[in-house]
Amino acid sequence: MAYFDNNSTTCPFPEVLEAVNTAMDSCWANPSSPHRSGGQVRVLMEKAREELSQSFNIDPQKLTFTSGATESNNAILSWIAHQPSFQGKTVLVSAIEHPSILEASRYIFDNHIELIPVNQEGVVELGQVEELLKIKKPAFLSLLAAHNETGVLQPWREVAQICRENGVWFHCDATQWVGKLELEGLELCSSFSFSAHKFGGPKGVGGLFSREPIAWMHGGGQEHESRGGTENFPSIEGMRVAWRQTCQSMPEKSVIDGGKKKFEGEIIRNIPGVKIIGERVPRLWNTSYLLLPRFDNLNWVSKLDKMNFSLSTGSACSTARLEPSGFAHAIGLTHEEGRRLVRASSWIETREQDWIGLADAFAHAHAELIEDQDRSGVISL
Ligand code: PMP
Repeated sequence: MAYFDNNSTTCPFPEVLEAVNTAMDSCWANPSSPHRSGGQVRVLMEKAREELSQSFNIDPQKLTFTSGATESNNAILSWIAHQPSFQGKTVLVSAIEHPSILEASRYIFDNHIELIPVNQEGVVELGQVEELLKIKKPAFLSLLAAHNETGVLQPWREVAQICRENGVWFHCDATQWVGKLELEGLELCSSFSFSAHKFGGPKGVGGLFSREPIAWMHGGGQEHESRGGTENFPSIEGMRVAWRQTCQSMPEKSVIDGGKKKFEGEIIRNIPGVKIIGERVPRLWNTSYLLLPRFDNLNWVSKLDKMNFSLSTGSACSTARLEPSGFAHAIGLTHEEGRRLVRASSWIETREQDWIGLADAFAHAHAELIEDQDRSGVISL
């Protein structure tokens, strides 16, 4: 099986499986317990926090372990909503945020949210941000670092700087960035979130950095009083090991870029009318988001699946809803075009040969879909 759905989730490194199993077996004591076994787990957990914080260039006391990016994003929003200084103020959220920001902020802030539009390539423009800051005088601004569907990179470092100068809290959902690109600059955000299963770690574990002490789960005072509840040490340890493995196994950018470039060249040659979303702007090295000239994306994905290629139509959450994501709408695609989007996302272990194999599979799928249509006589999308 050639797996091209890494923006949904990555396969855990073998070292991660081993680390989680070992921790389950021998480090199951409660890190808050006063005895030696608890103390040992506590020390290891703090070592994991230190190691990750060092990579992020942040103070370990400001990093909270969470159940993943959805929780981290919800946490920062609900904390903001409870701050007296934020009451009644506007919350600026980019129109292409992940649902864990977009839906959560609609739920929490109701009509106080204002969307930051994107251009046709799916990028937030700095001029727009500056204008909105001036007019709306918001309390908070959220912009993801790299988009999960297109892989298009956002000017988050510049936005962090502008927000800093204007005294606005800047949150960055760095889930698709962490594990793929340089972390430099994340320490300038007021808060940021990430998730281990996007870089070869276990699901259900991630982190939230916040410049100020925040709290959202109230209970036993764990995680510096931020998040009550017994910590999931085996998963935290799995995340630490995943991070180490990611740093060690990341090939040169030129090497990992090459396969995708060849794939896109082949696709453009073989499937007339195909468009690559975000082609003209910087994107994650691993992501190619195709607007196919015809046939429903679920038909494409199912054909490719039968040929042992795993791809998706966009974010896993929108697949379940069978609706084009909000992103397609934000860049001005029609509903019908939104049903023709297919995403291929690789990772560290993907080789150039895999990308070339995928391009061939697309060409075959295309021929078969045309044949199926001719046989049935039904006009497809
Ligand atoms: N933000 C982005 C940009 C994502 O891609 C995802 C995962 N699809 C999330 C947040 C949610 O992450 P998690 O699965 O860890 O809750």
